[in-house]
Amino acid sequence: MIKKPNVIEKWQKRNKYGRPGTPLSATKIAIHYTGKPDVDGDKTVSYFNNVVANGYKIGNRYIFASSHYVIGLGGEIYQLIPTNEICYATNSANSYAIAIEVATTGSDNHYTDATYKSMVHLCAWLCSYKNLDCKKDIITHTDVVGKKYKLCPIYMVKNPDKMQQFKIDCDNLKQGKITVNDIINCTSPNYNIPKMIKIIHDVNYHKTPDFKNSSIAGIALCGEVFTVSQLVKRNGTDMYKLKSGYYITTHAKYVEKYK
Ligand SMILES: [Zn+2]
Repeated sequence: MIKKPNVIEKWQKRNKYGRPGTPLSATKIAIHYTGKPDVDGDKTVSYFNNVVANGYKIGNRYIFASSHYVIGLGGEIYQLIPTNEICYATNSANSYAIAIEVATTGSDNHYTDATYKSMVHLCAWLCSYKNLDCKKDIITHTDVVGKKYKLCPIYMVKNPDKMQQFKIDCDNLKQGKITVNDIINCTSPNYNIPKMIKIIHDVNYHKTPDFKNSSIAGIALCGEVFTVSQLVKRNGTDMYKLKSGYYITTHAKYVEKYK
């Protein structure tokens, strides 16, 4: 069995808005996002425990909301509700799902490397602890409510291949095929960017991330190999920023992944 991740306990008091104390026998794990990027975990914990749990109205209706776990931008895992009690996060699945609210970052609501690692570690451990199958029993909120109701977590719903990879990462960790240190954040903007490229056709490199003649710094020759530091998204052909600080095209006519 895999090691339990570090969990910061922030137990919510019993209350009808978030922790009713109803017994839960969990058969699924549902992941969520908070609706906005770059909202850190402690803010979400405080919202559930110090605002909603005290009775919070929007208009004239009380909010009923909570989550078993919250994961922050630095990978912190908070637990608010014991996994043998229900929470209010996943609509009709509240009666059978453990809920995890996960902080997101950037305009596409992807995950930081630390957040992704914690999400995999926690889900893999929960599947092991509750005797669940990572590939079948980890779900999104949208799997329960449908896309018309809510896209949650929006990044995973919009990128089902990443959700698939996430479940495989959880399963690999649960099975002991990888360690926590081996987990690679498949949602990172740097994912799939080659570490090194080889020039397959002579091409200019540039001082700034554009293809203007005035920014040309030299010519990269066929056969030369360069280390890539980041991908620069552009309108038109993207460019690699090289370790040297120069920029070069990503076009497959000129460069290929090395090794
Ligand atoms: Zn949700």
